[in-house]
Amino acid sequence: MNLTEHFTLEELCFSSTAERLGIDNTPPEDIVANVNVLARGLEQVRAVLGKPMHIDSGYRCVALNSAVKGAQDSAHLRGFAADFICPEFGEPLSIVRALSNSAIVFDQCIQEGTWVHISFDPKARKEIMTAHFGPNGTTYTMGA
Ligand SMILES: [Zn+2]
Repeated sequence: MNLTEHFTLEELCFSSTAERLGIDNTPPEDIVANVNVLARGLEQVRAVLGKPMHIDSGYRCVALNSAVKGAQDSAHLRGFAADFICPEFGEPLSIVRALSNSAIVFDQCIQEGTWVHISFDPKARKEIMTAHFGPNGTTYTMGA
């Protein structure tokens, strides 16, 4: 089902991990409303980047979020967040900087190593962060 011109409900709920582990990642109705908010946000991102994006992860049910070791309060759980790459535009750092300088109102945009995490939680804090992966878990610093 198309939510916006470039994004479908299926791709924003698809997970190879869920398939592999037999987890049903079908979102309930209230979450579908949030995924619509996400799709509209991603459409703005695509307009800024001007290139196709590949979504690695969108909505995650609790079982899937645990399986991928997502944060317990992750915006993915509520369907507001997506992890993506856009190789034709550039590296995650240049993507984060471009979105930081854009007029897009997002909640958090995080440079997470080889991908970009963006969320459209209505808190709309427009926070820019960088993830650091260490032996004792992931920490975040402000800025990119
Ligand atoms: Zn994420």
